[in-house]
Amino acid sequence: MIGPDDVLAALRSVQDPDLHRDIVALGFVRNLKIDGGRVAFDVNLTTPACPVKEKMKGEAQEAVRRLPGVSEVKVTMTAEVRPTAGLDKTALAGVRNVVAIGSGKGGVGKSTVAVNLACALAQTGARVGLLDADIYGPSVPIMLGKRSQPEMRGDRMVPHVAHGVRFMSMGLLVPGDQPLIWRGPMAHGALQKTLFGVDWGELDYLLVDLPPGTGDVHLTLAQSVPLAGALIVSTPQDVGLTISMKTLRMFQTTKVAILGIVENMSHWTCTHCGERDDIFGYGGARAASASLKVPFLGEIPIDSRIRRHADQGSPIVLAEPSTKAAEAYRQIAGGVAAEVSIRTAGGASVEAPTSVERKDPALVRIVWPDTHASEYAARYLRLNCPCASCVDEWTGTKRLDPAAIPASITVDGIETIGQYALRFSFSDGHSSGLYAYGHLRKICPCCQAKQAAG
Ligand code: ADP
Repeated sequence: MIGPDDVLAALRSVQDPDLHRDIVALGFVRNLKIDGGRVAFDVNLTTPACPVKEKMKGEAQEAVRRLPGVSEVKVTMTAEVRPTAGLDKTALAGVRNVVAIGSGKGGVGKSTVAVNLACALAQTGARVGLLDADIYGPSVPIMLGKRSQPEMRGDRMVPHVAHGVRFMSMGLLVPGDQPLIWRGPMAHGALQKTLFGVDWGELDYLLVDLPPGTGDVHLTLAQSVPLAGALIVSTPQDVGLTISMKTLRMFQTTKVAILGIVENMSHWTCTHCGERDDIFGYGGARAASASLKVPFLGEIPIDSRIRRHADQGSPIVLAEPSTKAAEAYRQIAGGVAAEVSIRTAGGASVEAPTSVERKDPALVRIVWPDTHASEYAARYLRLNCPCASCVDEWTGTKRLDPAAIPASITVDGIETIGQYALRFSFSDGHSSGLYAYGHLRKICPCCQAKQAAG
C-alpha cells in the first residue's frame, strides 16, 4: 500500500529550476488523493506563465509512476501568483505585483514590449493590467486598439479591457490631440491618478510602461508602491552608449530590483534570402547584463510585422503567434514571471537583510531590518549548510561529518538568490547550499546561545 509519505518522498526529486528547491519543500503539492494504486494531486506553481510547467508536470508524473504499486497518476498544474511584500498595505491592495518597464531613451520599442508581454502573460491565464505612464508618447491605447475616455465607477476610473488586459493610459487623461506637456508636479499627479485612481480589481501583474530615461514618474512610482522589480529594454547600440545603464542605476539607487534586460531590434532576418543581419551590432545587452550580474531575458528581432500589428491594435503575440518575434515575447514574459516568483516566493516570513558583509574570509556579518546583527564564522556556516548532500532532506538529520571540515575554512564568495536566500562559496569548493533568510536567522549564533541559556 502506498501512502502520502511515499508520494511526497518521490516528489522531492522534482525541482523548481528557478527557486532551486524541490516542489514538496516549496509547498507546491496540494490535494493529494490516493485511492489504491491511483494517485492524484495538484502542483501549485507561483505563476501560470512558468516556461517549464509541462516539464515539471512530466517529472512529477514520472517520479510517482515509478513507485511500486502505482497504476495511475493524475497531475493537475495550478498556479497562484505570490504577492510582493507590503503591496497589500497600499491603495493597490488587489494587485499582487507591480513591474516597471523602462529604457534609456525613446523609440527602443519599450511600449511594444510592454504591450506584448501583457498579452503574453494574459494568454497564460494570469490576471494582467498595463499602465501606460509614458508621458512623452503614450502609445498603448493605439497598440491595444481602444482610445476612448475611461468611464468612472464612483470616484475611480474603469480601466479599458483589450485582449484580456486591463489598461489605463496617461494619454487618455487628455482629450483629443492636445499636446502633453508635463512638468514635475503634474507628472507626479498624473501617475498617482492613473495608479491609484483606477479600479484595477484583482491583478497578478500590473506592468507600468515608464517614460524613457529617468525622472519624476520613476521616482513617484518607486516611492509610492513596493515594486516587484524593473525590466530594462534596450537596443544593442543603446547599451553601447550606456544610456540604459543610467536607468538601471537609477532603479538600483531607489532600491528597485532589476528583473532583467531585454535586447530589442537585436537583429534582422532578410525576408527574401533568410540571411541574418545584426544591423546595430549584436549581443550588447547580453554582455552588459553579464557584467552587471543582471538576468538577460531575451532578444527580439526587427520585424516589420511587429510594428504593423501594433499600429492595428492587435499585438503580434496574438496576431501571428507562430512568428519568431511572438515566441521571443512569450519567452521574455515567462522570464519576467519567473524573476518575480524568485523575489516573492519563499522569503515572505523573514525580510531580506539590510547588509551582508564578509568582515574577513572567516567571518560573515549580517544586519537584519530590525537592526539585529548576526556574526557567523565560516566553519559554522559550512557546518550548517542546508543542501541535500549535507542534510537528509527527508529526516532532517545531518549527513556532514564535522571532522571533515577544516578549522581554516573560509567564505570566498557570497551571492544573493532572489529576495529569499544567500549562497556561500566555501574554500573547500562547496557552494550548493541555499541559505534562506529564515534559516540564517534561526541559526544566528547569539540567538542560539540566548535560547540555550533559557
Ligand atoms: P518606445 O516605447 O521605446 O518609445 P515603441 O514601442 O513606441 O518605442 O516603438 C517605436 C516604434 O518601433 C514603433 O513604431 C514600434 O512598432 C516599432 N518597433 C518596436 N519594436 C520593433 C521591432 N522589434 N521590430 C520592428 N519595429 C519595432
